[in-house]
Amino acid sequence: MDFPLPLPEHKKVAAFFLLPDCDIRCTFCISHSDFDVIDFDRAAAFIDRVAESSIESLVLGGGEPLLWPNGLEALAEHARSRGMISQLNTHGGGLLKRLDGLASVDRIILPIESVQPDVHDNLRRGLVGHHKMVMETIEELIARDRVLTFATVVTSENYKGVGEIAGWMAALEGRGARIHAWHLYNFLPEGRGGARKLAEHLAVSREEFLSACSTAKNAGLDCAVYRRDNMLRSSTVEFFWFEQGRLCMGGGELARSKSPG
Ligand code: SF4
Repeated sequence: MDFPLPLPEHKKVAAFFLLPDCDIRCTFCISHSDFDVIDFDRAAAFIDRVAESSIESLVLGGGEPLLWPNGLEALAEHARSRGMISQLNTHGGGLLKRLDGLASVDRIILPIESVQPDVHDNLRRGLVGHHKMVMETIEELIARDRVLTFATVVTSENYKGVGEIAGWMAALEGRGARIHAWHLYNFLPEGRGGARKLAEHLAVSREEFLSACSTAKNAGLDCAVYRRDNMLRSSTVEFFWFEQGRLCMGGGELARSKSPG
């Protein structure tokens, strides 16, 4: 399998979109709906290829990767067999039932937009109960000594509560939770959520975003805290998906750089 373009040496992480489908609707979702549900063999061949590159870590995402029907557990095992660090970027629904089978996943990335349930849930088009489920899932993951990463999309609805999230995270660390990192993403007016009519309302000013990130970075957490100005552009992360059977990669506006075959 050929890459669409040569991979720059500084790319260390591959974010791999297994499918576009998701069963919730986040107002800030940057995911698009027009790419393939990849089959297992192509996904495994992709991993074989990235394992030979500068990429060290693979983020399995979507859409919601737990909805991928083609063998997530086996794919995570395949990534481990190729020596890659594997991460699962999930909304958390249904994760606990599959946790044993996902033992090969090194880090689980979960969303936390607020410690206030209503603020967190309202960013999911009023989906009541997501916050509660995420909190229960985190407790179980800590009990099972799994490594966590947290992701927060900073919007007008939650930027004032970033300090509260930091305090909650510090308390988890104080209890021995293994938290690898916390990523704070600037809201982008992109994709099936962010590009919709709430975009103007959800946007934060540059000053508000920087202030929220500064609060997080100065909270004295043991984990790494990353400010992500543009979640589609990163010096170390490259994005991959399949479209009409062809491997595509890129960030920015998901520029369609197609492979020759
Ligand atoms: S951001 Fe929300 S809606 Fe979009 S794929 Fe993730 S969980 Fe689903």
